[in-house]
Amino acid sequence: AMNYRHAYHAGNFADVLKHSVLFALIEAFKAKDTPFALIDTHAGSGCYALDSEEAGKTGEYREGIARLLFPDLQRNGQGSLPPLLRNWLDTIIALPGNEHGLKLYPGSPLQASLAMRATDSAQLCELHPEEAARLRELFHHDHRVHVHQRDGYEALKALLPPKEKRGLVLIDPPYEAQDDEFRLIEAALKTALQRWPTGVYAIWYPIKLRSQVQPFLRWLQRCGVRRALQAELLVHPDDSSLRLNGSGMAILNAPWNLDQVLREPLQAMARLLSQERAASWRLDWLVQETETPASQVP
Ligand code: SAM
Repeated sequence: AMNYRHAYHAGNFADVLKHSVLFALIEAFKAKDTPFALIDTHAGSGCYALDSEEAGKTGEYREGIARLLFPDLQRNGQGSLPPLLRNWLDTIIALPGNEHGLKLYPGSPLQASLAMRATDSAQLCELHPEEAARLRELFHHDHRVHVHQRDGYEALKALLPPKEKRGLVLIDPPYEAQDDEFRLIEAALKTALQRWPTGVYAIWYPIKLRSQVQPFLRWLQRCGVRRALQAELLVHPDDSSLRLNGSGMAILNAPWNLDQVLREPLQAMARLLSQERAASWRLDWLVQETETPASQVP
């Protein structure tokens, strides 16, 4: 069933983790002049109006992106945000339409396109016809960006490896049936890693019960990559299957120093996003390379 609409959740605490990590990864790619490719397997519609009926109904962004931005816009505690978060938030403030406050929240495709250079490229897959149509419209004039209305897992076979030979695959599915989605991701990654073992893969995952996530994380530990980092942010304890308690990003072939890059941002987000009790975060290598890598960027 295709019931999921990201408009209800845009800018929530999970998006904040997902997109700040995405920003950090794109920054790492930009450390080298050679172009990179982004492949977004579940792209959504690209941009979300926070005053829409959908966003207004849940108001999830108020406990997410708004918590990070409002101290910022009011110039309170401005110096306290780590530079990575500041720079990421600046791109959201600078979005046309946000001149008079937070009206729009850019999804992963728009955030990526804002951070990409003229020579970088993006392949966006989105199965839902309306979301795909909105993506097409949004990127109509952007020749770097290609929209595919098709199954993102299936499309990886055709899209990998990208001609740029360096780049990032973002896997951000709806998890309408959680266990099934984990198995779909594993199958897709197995094929993808065969076709393109050196690509960077960033997979967003929901955290309800910790035990529901463990098999997937164990699979990642055995999938054959040399480095894999997990970055998690929880606003509730991970002991209830009834709500989204937190989320994580698993990054395969992560830049060797990504843990250092994300440490302070995660600390700051945990501070700003805490709910009934302190938010918690986790930054661990699921797979750690012991030798010093020759190259410092992917
Ligand atoms: N990545 C987006 C972002 O960060 O802004 C949000 C994506 S949202 C969590 C998941 C999207 O996947 C939905 O728009 C849904 O329509 C789409 N979708 C569901 N199944 C899909 C599939 N098999 N292939 C591609 N897209 C799919």
